[in-house]
Amino acid sequence: MSALFLSPPSFDGFDGGAGARYQATREIRSFWYPTWLAQPAALVKGSKLLDCPPHDVDVATTLAEAKKFDHVIINTSTPSLRNDCKVAEAIKSQKPSTTIGFVGAQAAVLPQETLAASEAIDWVGGKEFDFTCKEVAEGRPLAEVDGLAYRKDGKMVQNKERELISDMDVLPWVTDVYKRDLQIEKYTIGYLKEPYISLYTGRGCPAQCTFCLWPQTIGGHKYRVRSAENVAAEMAHAKKLFPQVQEFFFDDDTFTANLPRAREIAKKLKPLGMTWSCNSRANVNRETIQTMKDCGLRLFLVGYESGNQQILDAIKKGVRLEVAKEFTKNCRDAGVLIHGTFILGLPYETKETIENTINYAKELDVFSIQVSLAAPYPGTELYEMAKENGWFAKKPSKNGIVDDSGIQEAALEYPGLSKAEIYESVERFYREYYLRPRPILRIVKTMLEDRNVFVRRIREGYEFFSTMAKRRHHLAEV
Ligand code: SF4
Repeated sequence: MSALFLSPPSFDGFDGGAGARYQATREIRSFWYPTWLAQPAALVKGSKLLDCPPHDVDVATTLAEAKKFDHVIINTSTPSLRNDCKVAEAIKSQKPSTTIGFVGAQAAVLPQETLAASEAIDWVGGKEFDFTCKEVAEGRPLAEVDGLAYRKDGKMVQNKERELISDMDVLPWVTDVYKRDLQIEKYTIGYLKEPYISLYTGRGCPAQCTFCLWPQTIGGHKYRVRSAENVAAEMAHAKKLFPQVQEFFFDDDTFTANLPRAREIAKKLKPLGMTWSCNSRANVNRETIQTMKDCGLRLFLVGYESGNQQILDAIKKGVRLEVAKEFTKNCRDAGVLIHGTFILGLPYETKETIENTINYAKELDVFSIQVSLAAPYPGTELYEMAKENGWFAKKPSKNGIVDDSGIQEAALEYPGLSKAEIYESVERFYREYYLRPRPILRIVKTMLEDRNVFVRRIREGYEFFSTMAKRRHHLAEV
């Protein structure tokens, strides 16, 4: 009665697994770990985690694997739903007795629509689905499992909502599942050392950003955490399991949301001599940055989003521009690198605010940047605002948020600012940012310091310019 936990084959290079907040094919080949699937897989005896996109697993191999299991649990997302349904249908038609469940933010927010998307889907999971998956995989009748909706006589039956987990230490470690089922060398993120491993030490984010997917859909706004002892013990274990790992990444929505705990974990990591990085808001104080740096912190992944204060207020970012600037300076002084992320096409964007953001990014001058397009996922406040205000693009793509290659689409547009203008600004942003002496020198320096980095940056450069060419081609069709 065991279960296959599946991230199905999808667009080429699609980072849409159960660890990607924003599912898309990135500018350079990137894959997050499928942690949201690895966690229930760790709870289910005899399970298997099959993460197809990074391992280049095709549909035929997926079907052969699925045949061995009574249950297949698929991580889906808004942009990949159509594709995931096709895979589910192929699994069902080769072995009709297979019970198929869909989990993830899309399933949690839109159970009715997700269940209706294909007859092959037997059930859809609610918010936090670890124990829901476990109970289904153990053979409990669907009617008796909290936290799911299922099909009965052609209609949807919605079971009681499952409580979010309050004691996160009850969850088994995902690193054992990574060791058993994943080739860690297949996972890569441009700004992290290779090979890397990412995992969570807690779930949920107290911030209220209107565009942000997970806290508004599956994780909630309370930061629920594992104990520092539990985290340190898993990291010591992970070091033994994966001596080749160069960097560990704590992928909690905001690892620094609880500063005393973040410092406590950092201090426990120090004797392990590990290099680690994490997500942070741009509001951590100087002392904490220094303490974390002294304990092995290498890089913060920071969502700056916009260089315009009105937009930051409109999306409820909760960090003011001057605070973010001070934080960035303190990181530079402490020697902590930053990968900064920005979003174009947020509410009330204009040509001027796009310029504000590009100039702001250049002023911050962090180690590396990522520029995304505003993605109005169902379940987010941004989605509701876009509906109310009529911001959805008049000519949407059939996958909604991504195009046919999995590359992000501009889904919103505003009076005086078209979808095409927002889309075009992404490439201009990258060019204006990176084609300056300082970023070029930074990149060249890292290449000269390490031959592996040299080879990697050449590959990434090629991928980046190929993606930009694809985007230009797509722009011509918009
Ligand atoms: S701080 Fe980051 S993780 Fe938290 S709600 Fe805002 S964007 Fe999301």
